[in-house]
Amino acid sequence: MLKLEKVDVSYGSIKALHGISVEVKNSEIVALIGANGAGKSTTLRTISGLLKPSSKESIITFKDVQIQGMPPHKIVEMGLSHVPEGRRVFPEMSVYENLLMGAHSRKGKPGQEDFDRVYHHFPRLKERIKQVAGTLSGGEQQMLAMGRALMTRPDLLILDEPSMGLAPMLVEEIFHIIEDINAAGTTILLVEQNAHLALEISHRAYVLETGEIVLEGPARELAQNEDIRKAYLGE
Ligand code: ATP
Repeated sequence: MLKLEKVDVSYGSIKALHGISVEVKNSEIVALIGANGAGKSTTLRTISGLLKPSSKESIITFKDVQIQGMPPHKIVEMGLSHVPEGRRVFPEMSVYENLLMGAHSRKGKPGQEDFDRVYHHFPRLKERIKQVAGTLSGGEQQMLAMGRALMTRPDLLILDEPSMGLAPMLVEEIFHIIEDINAAGTTILLVEQNAHLALEISHRAYVLETGEIVLEGPARELAQNEDIRKAYLGE
């Protein structure tokens, strides 16, 4: 579904990604783990078109179409939706209006089935459709940001740190929902600091260190890897 080949990204003269190659296959959950500043968000922002690769050799293919250099809204229209770090909802708007805004990013009008899909995964949002988004709890705002992304009917959902700043119980809940969304047919690429949980729900994972992929493999194998356990699983 998604393939990054030799992707380089620089911020001015500083190189943030050094020729990384990553693949996400249809129906998978793939995790990208790594320390602060490793380049995880940069990778996601490049995939969704917010940043451009700095080398002509960098190729990003989504559903067999090269998307590097394409504007972000075109990429959303193709079926790729990005929930950025820090869940930016429209604070003055209601939950319903936020969801409606999500649907504007794709072709075709939203139907009741789009709202129903979101309410199915996030019953808490259904209870709060009229509530102003700025007054939602952190976890509910994360749910709304994810629900808004689902309104675009994505084939691939990319999530940047969905667990950030949430209480452990809520983190578990969000991760179960991510598994459910995947089971319902959406492919997922996930960036997470919480490597434990990320490896638990993912099929495969990549480890990013200072802009390079240093390890990749089935998530279960990585969770057993001695170096990973020391560096990312706090053992
Ligand atoms: P975190 O988990 O802390 O968000 P990350 O793995 O997502 O980290 P990135 O945010 O992708 O890392 O950052 C990768 C590198 O690029 C870091 O060295 C960071 O300082 C640098 N960087 C990120 N954004 C910018 C920017 N707008 N301008 C200059 N440098 C940047």
